[in-house]
Amino acid sequence: MLTSIEGRSVVVTGASKGIGKGIAKVFAKSGGKVLIVSRHLDEAEACAEELRRAGGIAKGYAADVTKFGDMQTLVDAAAAAHGGIDILCTNAGIFPQMKIEELSSEDWDYVMATNLKGTFLPIKACLSHLKKSDQGRIVITSSITGPVTGFPGWAHYGASKAGQLGFMRTACIELAKYGITVNAVLPGNIATEGLAALGLEYERSMSASIPLKKLGTVEDIGYAALFLASKEAAYITGQTIIVDGGQILPESMEALAQA
Ligand code: NAP
Repeated sequence: MLTSIEGRSVVVTGASKGIGKGIAKVFAKSGGKVLIVSRHLDEAEACAEELRRAGGIAKGYAADVTKFGDMQTLVDAAAAAHGGIDILCTNAGIFPQMKIEELSSEDWDYVMATNLKGTFLPIKACLSHLKKSDQGRIVITSSITGPVTGFPGWAHYGASKAGQLGFMRTACIELAKYGITVNAVLPGNIATEGLAALGLEYERSMSASIPLKKLGTVEDIGYAALFLASKEAAYITGQTIIVDGGQILPESMEALAQA
């Protein structure tokens, strides 16, 4: 059992719902003091209240990961509420589906600002506190889409998710001297509010293409993040964990049909 999260100050971006909420829940259950970040304070606070009712320590905070000023005030809020920052989970992300022929320059910039710059800015802002921690950890939520697979409508999204890993591979070298590790979780298709918005037919066809025959849960991602943030994972940096029920493995639909 990973007990080294007890009392640690954890910041999770994009945590009012979906995967971020799952990560926050798992860390709070493990004794972490969690700052729940999203753009809407009522939703962030509602999530924090749910975690507190379950016995955890959590606080909601409104901030936009595309704005460095917001990230600086977030750091002050986390430090004031929970005494420093030990673990940062950069999870906020969006996945509007648009094929290249419809995709505008503005659409591209919006996805890059949220998913890629929105990974860099919280990391930069939290560094001063992560450097002081004896368990400085950064866990990035990337995706199988981009780093491993492609899907029509997600060229811009895939580029942002692969970009996160390019960023990570240099960040882990630069930050190693402070004992900070930087790793990423690559979810497959996980049941979240964002995924539900893609429709039932998308969920059905995705479940059928996964060897384990079901979508993942937000807690499945939370436990992978928990491991990467633990003391026990201190010697792992610049690495990725794919959590996808085996989705990337079949060579074809035929391979699944014959199983
Ligand atoms: P979701 O259900 O739509 O939740 C997204 C969260 O991010 C919300 O809390 C949202 O709150 C917050 N957010 C969005 N833009 C933000 C911004 N600019 N600043 C701060 N917070 C922001 O999404 P999800 O499905 O959980 O996805 C979360 C992450 O997992 C993303 O990085 C996504 O790429 C990745 N992922 C998801 C899947 C999947 O199957 N679901 C698969 C692979 C990777 P507000 O709107 O209040 O800001």
